[in-house]
Amino acid sequence: MERATVRLLRGGALLMGIEIDTKYGGTGASFFSSILVIEELAKVDASVALVCDIQNTLINRMIGKYGTEEQKATYLPKLATEKASSICISEAGAGSDSFAMKTRADKKGDYYIINGSKMWISSAEIAGLFLVMANADFSAGYKGITCFLVDGDTEGLHVGKPENKLGIRASSTCPITFDDVKVPKTNILGQVGHGYKYAIGSLNEGRIGIAAQMLGLAQGCFDYTIPYIKEREQFGRRVFDFQGLQHQVAHMATQLEAARLLTYNAARLLEAGKPIIKEASMAKYHASELAGLITSKCIEWMGGVGYTKSYPVEKYFRDAKIGTIYEGTSNIQLNTIAKCISAEY
Ligand SMILES: Cc1cc2nc3c(=O)[nH]c(=O)nc-3n(C[C@H](O)[C@H](O)[C@H](O)COP(=O)(O)OP(=O)(O)OC[C@H]3O[C@@H](n4cnc5c(N)ncnc54)[C@H](O)[C@@H]3O)c2cc1C
Repeated sequence: MERATVRLLRGGALLMGIEIDTKYGGTGASFFSSILVIEELAKVDASVALVCDIQNTLINRMIGKYGTEEQKATYLPKLATEKASSICISEAGAGSDSFAMKTRADKKGDYYIINGSKMWISSAEIAGLFLVMANADFSAGYKGITCFLVDGDTEGLHVGKPENKLGIRASSTCPITFDDVKVPKTNILGQVGHGYKYAIGSLNEGRIGIAAQMLGLAQGCFDYTIPYIKEREQFGRRVFDFQGLQHQVAHMATQLEAARLLTYNAARLLEAGKPIIKEASMAKYHASELAGLITSKCIEWMGGVGYTKSYPVEKYFRDAKIGTIYEGTSNIQLNTIAKCISAEY
């Protein structure tokens, strides 16, 4: 994991700073470029794609949009070339209902003191920067949620043992505790109490990144499997030549193309400054449900060998499951889509 991330950071392609302006050392490319990179990486490994996705579609964009000039000058060059980063929203009691978070930030002069704990934080083991959502005013409910830029070496920030997961095992997922973590008020991202807005807006955009991750993963698995079933023979014929199997392959290929079009469409709408909430949820929902289905089919099409660890399709299958869970579960995407439809009629 560490080696893969170092390559992403130092490989010269600036894959961790795709949209970061060239004046801060990034590539200055588009959101769509990030989506294409995530898709390509996920064809080979969904964990590496996730590390790249979080940094590009969430963290770099949030700092770019809401950061002060000083914050941009301090953090963006490092994110483009040196540092991985994590976004810390979820807690043990605040998953889908993330605004129920209990992590607090108490103002003390020019500082805020953060206390609490987060769960499921991707890249935490290697992150040099944590974007932390904490409530600075519980009397205002979720409108007290504020976003802080916390350096990885800040005293009182403890990263726990990585979870032992089903898939995306090359991406660390850790609990984090904040024990009187002192953060200067100059490290507030945007405005106090606006963290919930930034979280909603950024996760809407980030969902397009997860759609790209799941699309790439499904394509990678498909690309591995089809040549195998075109070689493998049973009953004196290539397995691919059985019509029962061909129809399944054709169906999955069509669904895959639909996932690609949904994902690219959401990315293009975002770049055009158009509403994306429904489209991003549709893309993520479709691509992640499909990734589960297609990787399962690929195992079946390959037969017994597909079920073994000697071939990569079982890894694709395990890696696919997370798409229906993080950055809003499939049910949460359906809730969002239904809400948008209700508002349209
Ligand atoms: C590998 C991994 C990496 C992650 N990375 C990060 C990260 O970097 N940063 C971060 O902040 N978080 C991260 N998460 C957390 C992730 O976003 C949450 O797990 C996710 O939002 C779901 O929350 P939960 O696990 O608490 O499930 P719950 O919210 O408890 O959901 C359980 C079930 O209830 C259903 N459900 C809940 N509410 C509703 C509803 N209103 N309508 C219908 N069904 C509902 C869900 O769909 C689900 O099926 C990560 C999680 C994992 C597993």
